[in-house]
Formats: sequence, structure tokens, C-alpha cells
Amino acid sequence: MSEARERVRERYREKRERAQRRRDRRVEEVYELIPRLREINREVNRFGFDSIQRMRAEPMRRKEIQKELDEKFKELERETDELLDKHGIERDFKKCRYECMECEDTGYTQDGRMCRCFKQSIADEEYNSSNINVLLKKCSFDKFRLDYYPDEITDKHKESPRRNMERIYNRTVKFCEDFAVSEKSLMFTGPTGLGKTFLSCAAVGRLISDGYFVVYVRATKLFTIFEDNKFGRLGDRKVIDDLYGCDLLVIDDLGAEADSRFNLSYLFDIIDDRTSRGKKMIINTNLNLPDLERRYSARFTSRLVEHFQIFFLYGEDIRFKMI
Ligand SMILES: [Zn+2]
Repeated sequence: MSEARERVRERYREKRERAQRRRDRRVEEVYELIPRLREINREVNRFGFDSIQRMRAEPMRRKEIQKELDEKFKELERETDELLDKHGIERDFKKCRYECMECEDTGYTQDGRMCRCFKQSIADEEYNSSNINVLLKKCSFDKFRLDYYPDEITDKHKESPRRNMERIYNRTVKFCEDFAVSEKSLMFTGPTGLGKTFLSCAAVGRLISDGYFVVYVRATKLFTIFEDNKFGRLGDRKVIDDLYGCDLLVIDDLGAEADSRFNLSYLFDIIDDRTSRGKKMIINTNLNLPDLERRYSARFTSRLVEHFQIFFLYGEDIRFKMI
């Protein structure tokens, strides 16, 4: 088992224990407030236990005893509900509130499959994108500020940066809305500090909450994975499988990696394979198309042009406005 998976498993165990401790505290609070509920709880246990003993002793009267038990339970349940309603306390106060209701924070669904929340957490850990969670909190579509972008047209572009961003923003939202049916991927290109990472993280957040499995990886890390794979240093082959298999693959800052020449075939294979199966990607890069072509080949850029909606971001660095 990979180290990442081991760490996530440990986190889930803690998460589950926290939920159970919260539940225990809540039950204790409610019992303090309505002591009769504690008595009822004892009565239920006692009555249940006695009934089993009686059934053993008098098997012939089993049905009759069961009926008595059911009635007694119903009566106590009614009394409990009345008391809770009177005090304005939720009827299911004894239930654990797990973060994920699908797997109750165990990581596995009832039919034994790995839960999507667990799969996603392992991927986040594996691709060293632990900062992705911080980014996802900061970057969402509703936090995007168009007013950070100047509305003046310069002689370099026919639209103002704001107008350009508005269009890109709308198309990115649409990309998420149509995710199940469309086949085009996205590429954001332009200098640092114009919101490429912000927009892609907003899309990632939206798609994860829609239940998609997303792998977000920085190019530098991606090429380290390729290198490790080549020399058999990868602990878990699943890391590679996920790059091919996930619903959305985000490669951030393509071009920032140092040694891409030696491992380009890996990158090409992933992009070829994904595009041929209609699986989508988001690529962020500071490089423009001629630079990309010089660095990665003409074949690479023609793949991009064919399968990606390419957005050019321009304007001034907005990061200082976001502090
Ligand atoms: Zn889950």
C-alpha cells in the first residue's frame, strides 16, 4: 500500500473518531437537559434484555412476548419524540454526523467499493497537491472578481482585459455545466498572475462537488512521477493509472518543469489516450503556442488546437489586488 493511501486511511480513522466523540458529547448534553431520556434509554435496554431471557425460558410464548416488547418500544419512542419536540431537539440526535454520508467516513461504501471521497483524497495526497485544498477554498466561481481586470482597451488587443476575462469565465462555467456531454478540454495561457490557477481551481471545486474524480498535478511533479516510473521508483502503479483514468486531469504550469525532453513520450501518450477517449483536461501554461511548439513539438500543439478550447489571458498581474 502506498504511503499516501496509508496517510489518508489514518486521517479517515481520526475523522470517524471525531464524529463519534461529537455524537457522544451531544447525547450527554441532551441527557443532561432531559434526564427522563436517560431513564428511557435504560428502560429500553432492560426491557430488551428481559424479553430475550423470557423468550428463552418460555419459547412457547415467544410471539406474545415479542408483541409486548414491540408495544413497549413504540410507547417509549413516542414519549421520546414528544420530549424532543418539546425541547426543540432533532429527533436523530444520536446519529453520527459524518462528513461523507455515502461511506460514513470509512472510505468504503456498503457494497465494498472505494468511496469517491476516499479516491479523491488519495489522489490529492499522491500528487502532492495538498495545497489544492487551500486553493479550492479560496478559488470558487462566486469569488471570482472581474473588477480586478482593467476595462480599458489598449492598442495590443481589441477587447479590454475585463471583457476578455468575462468571456473566459463564462466559458469555464459552461465547461463545468456541460462536463458530462462535451469533449473539448481547456487550456489557459498567459503570463503569471492573471488568474489561470484561480479559474482552473474553481472548475476543479465545482466538478469534485458534482461527484467527478479529478487529478490536479503541477507539471514539475508530473515529470517527477514520469521519472520515478521509468526507474521503477513508484510505490503505487495506481498513480499512473489515475492520470489516464480520472474524469478530469489538470496540469498546472506546464513548461515550468526542467527535464521535459526526456519524458515527453509519457505526456504525449496520456494526452493522446485521453483525447481519443473524450476524457477532458485543463492545462495551464505561461507559454504561448509558438513557445509550446518549440518546446514540445508541432504534433503536440496540433493536438492542443484540435482538442482544447484555448484561452489567452492578458492584462496586468492581479495578485496584489487579491491580498
Ligand atoms: Zn465517502
